[in-house]
Amino acid sequence: MTKILICDDELGVRESLKLILGDFYPLIVVDNGEAALEVLKNTPSISLVFMDIKMPKTPGLDVLAKIKQLHPHVKVVIVSGYNSVETAQEASKLGADGYIVKPFDSKDVLERARKYIK
Ligand SMILES: [Mg+2]
Repeated sequence: MTKILICDDELGVRESLKLILGDFYPLIVVDNGEAALEVLKNTPSISLVFMDIKMPKTPGLDVLAKIKQLHPHVKVVIVSGYNSVETAQEASKLGADGYIVKPFDSKDVLERARKYIK
């Protein structure tokens, strides 16, 4: 079964995404972009990533660009702390498949997952 990768430096966000998605999909959860790339390299069954934008080391948009370069079939939904048109446009230019703003709605998160995981 295809897996979802969750990448966010905040424990609270990781926990709420786990609560929303964990009953329906196998999840892998990491707290930084380097770990996300490492997991993707070793886990071909991942088809969707929820990627935080603001993280201490590598910003989420840089990780997004790398994912799209190395694993073009993987869908990436950006998770942002604020609703910014410029950031959303930048994310979309880099190949993001979706953009959700924290605090997110659980229905919205599940909808994204259903859209990208058959
Ligand atoms: Mg963050």
